[in-house]
Amino acid sequence: MINAKEIYYILLKAYGQPRWWSDDPFVVMLQSVLVQNTTWSSVEKTCAMFVNQLTPEYIEDLSTEELEQIIRPCGFYKAKARTIQALTAWYRKYHFDRQAVHEVPMPRLRKELLSIRGVGAETADVILVYAFYKASFIIDAYTRRFLFRLGYNFSDDTAIKLFFEKELPEDAQFYGWYHWLILEHCISVCKKTPKCDICFLNGDCRQKLPK
Ligand code: SF4
Repeated sequence: MINAKEIYYILLKAYGQPRWWSDDPFVVMLQSVLVQNTTWSSVEKTCAMFVNQLTPEYIEDLSTEELEQIIRPCGFYKAKARTIQALTAWYRKYHFDRQAVHEVPMPRLRKELLSIRGVGAETADVILVYAFYKASFIIDAYTRRFLFRLGYNFSDDTAIKLFFEKELPEDAQFYGWYHWLILEHCISVCKKTPKCDICFLNGDCRQKLPK
């Protein structure tokens, strides 16, 4: 069966150089919470309302009610406001300094992030990879469905993580690009109803739909 590296290079050939989430670590943190259970367009509209004030200093000066009102279009705004405030307080412990966070070992950072209410494994790994360049492969619903369709039958997310991490270089940039390619593939081709006839992986896929 096709391996993790082979999948990467097929996706890279199909979709070209992947994008990065954002160069601003705080934007990644905030958006990774806002995007939970909502659409990306709602996140973009909400972020636009911050104008040029999407900074941890600005967020920590807002009252809970003010923050809730701004992020309301993203849904679950009370829970998300609480999580954003807790994440901002966590980042404050590092003086809002990306490099200071980056210097902490990944397992310790992951544990700290997972202890914040509203931050699950997917959100923690998005923050680790895209905000702080720490290598922890991101597993989301798209990744699970995509691998299942290819023919893999993993017992849980830990096994999926291992599938990627044991074969790939331990490199946050590589992980970030790979996750972006999977997103791109699952949004445009391997959708709920997949377009297998135009898929670059259809020769290696167990669940490809017949033409
Ligand atoms: S062949 Fe179809 S099911 Fe398989 S990866 Fe491609 S789009 Fe998805």
